[in-house]
Amino acid sequence: MDDTRAGSEDEAAEVRRFWTRLGLPGLVDVHTHFMPERVLRKVWAYFDAVGTVDNGVEWPITYRLEEDERLAVIREFGVRAFTAMLYPHKPGMAQWLNRWATDFAARTPDCLHTSTLFPEPGVETYVREAVESGARVFKAHVQVGAYDPADELLDPAWGFLAETGTPVVIHCGSGPAPGKHTGPEPIGRVLARHPRLRLVVAHMGLPEYEDFLGLAERYGEVRLDTTMAFTDFAERMAGFPRSALPRLADLGDRVLLGSDFPNIPYPYVHQLHALQRLDLGDDWLRAVCHDNGARLFGLGGTEVRRG
Ligand SMILES: [Zn+2]
Repeated sequence: MDDTRAGSEDEAAEVRRFWTRLGLPGLVDVHTHFMPERVLRKVWAYFDAVGTVDNGVEWPITYRLEEDERLAVIREFGVRAFTAMLYPHKPGMAQWLNRWATDFAARTPDCLHTSTLFPEPGVETYVREAVESGARVFKAHVQVGAYDPADELLDPAWGFLAETGTPVVIHCGSGPAPGKHTGPEPIGRVLARHPRLRLVVAHMGLPEYEDFLGLAERYGEVRLDTTMAFTDFAERMAGFPRSALPRLADLGDRVLLGSDFPNIPYPYVHQLHALQRLDLGDDWLRAVCHDNGARLFGLGGTEVRRG
């Protein structure tokens, strides 16, 4: 485990050394959480409680800081672009979150304007309005939202997002906690109807890694984010099968760095080292930690730099 003190100058220097060595202009992190303060406090309270239940896993929040301090930390790391993943757990909440996210993006130029959705009447309209007002990525959380992603109320929204090529980071794997509609089957039904939908499967689909690799192999617009995957923490919970490493290498242009910052129980740099120790090579690391995200969001900075 990395023993660098999280959020310290030492940690920032170590993160910067990681991408400087690769010749990158920084990192692109598609999975970071910024949300209204009282929602974030509830998320932290949830993770605090996880460690107190029987056989619970300790989940100390490493970057339990004020919003401006969290922004300062991630900028010190050299993250060029990041997201504000937020998600509703009940009807009538998505639009309120989206209003907050629009404001956050307006005052945070390095944040990719993020929106969310829920199966409810009117969803197609507010998804359309969000994209028209500049949303560049959506977040959906099938376990927390406890909905079937193939719910017919969502169908026109998925269709619109597919048509506009808007990426959707979706937590649809059954880890760390399964839900009624998690796993590859429900989301597979969505993809069968919308094969061009740009889904970014969060956490590499943990623990159903191989099923989600299969969906990415089958659908050319499906991507996977690395969030928490391959870290000591995730490996203890649900290890990535070594036999699937060649498939991960082959999908190198559709794997994107994600971290879950700030809600992680270890220093940020550990996610980067966890990717490095997979031994898939520097080209793979460059693609995953920067170039794939930069291309997806049109950020530039992917000009040929390798000799
Ligand atoms: Zn997350």
